[in-house]
Amino acid sequence: VAADLGQQALSETGAVGAIRPISDLEPAADEPPMISAVEPLAPLGRHVSISPQPSSAFLDVGRRSAPVSSPREVATVPIAMYHHIDDISRNVADVQRKELTVSVASFRRHLELLAGMQATTVTLADLMDYLEGGELLPPRPVILTFDDGYDDNYRLAYPLLRQFGMRGTFFVVVNLVGKPGYMTWDQLREMQLQGMAIESHSLDHLDLSTLPRAELQRQLAESRRILERNLLSPVRYLNYPSGRYSRQVIAAARAAGYEAAVTTEPGLVQERGTPYQLSRVRVSGSDTAQSLAAKMVPTFWKYPPRGQFAR
Ligand SMILES: [Zn+2]
Repeated sequence: VAADLGQQALSETGAVGAIRPISDLEPAADEPPMISAVEPLAPLGRHVSISPQPSSAFLDVGRRSAPVSSPREVATVPIAMYHHIDDISRNVADVQRKELTVSVASFRRHLELLAGMQATTVTLADLMDYLEGGELLPPRPVILTFDDGYDDNYRLAYPLLRQFGMRGTFFVVVNLVGKPGYMTWDQLREMQLQGMAIESHSLDHLDLSTLPRAELQRQLAESRRILERNLLSPVRYLNYPSGRYSRQVIAAARAAGYEAAVTTEPGLVQERGTPYQLSRVRVSGSDTAQSLAAKMVPTFWKYPPRGQFAR
């Protein structure tokens, strides 16, 4: 009977972010590998307003599932790093802004490229769950991250992601939420309801590696606390402002309750042993679908070896 209950619990946990029982999920040793399915995003009205819940409500929700196998040391999962998705004039003199801005047409081509390769967008929770021995990832997993919480992400990136049935991970600077040019809490909650992940990019986007200890702790813990108070699910992932971090920053991030963090260091392979140093692929305004593919698409996506994700 216990085994049957376990099977049933496992089979009913397909929904992303669903509350799952933590215990009673000891699978049989010969459990067939499971492919984690991303549920189709349900349609929803445009005006969504959900009253925030206290973070204590999330205490147990974050655990997606009990491990179904032993931990995996590495996963090849490209994590794309976007900033602005916007159409700006070619005459804009700000070179940095130009490099940080991907046009809507380019972004659409990037998504078409990924869709054409049958890639599946997953979240950092999916990646970390996989590394810890949880559910398998889909065959061509990719994570699309968006830094800083610009309002063009809501206006222009989010509708395209929905159109393609894809998920994004948005790192917001908490003290900029609702400021001119940045997304609002209502927008962030609506995006969450549509399958987007919202995570922390600190309170004020300061260089964390240079802060005194108390301020470092405040930037990490307070941003997480405020995000959880205003959003609908736990916040467990950090994005170091300007990619700046140190051993002290990693220790403080762990102490503040983050389980992993993304850097700006380039790479496609994510390692279980260094969860606070996940690598990413920078996408800039001058990237074409071809140049993006060259730096972001793992070779085995084109020739998937048997069993790549079914160890
Ligand atoms: Zn940033």
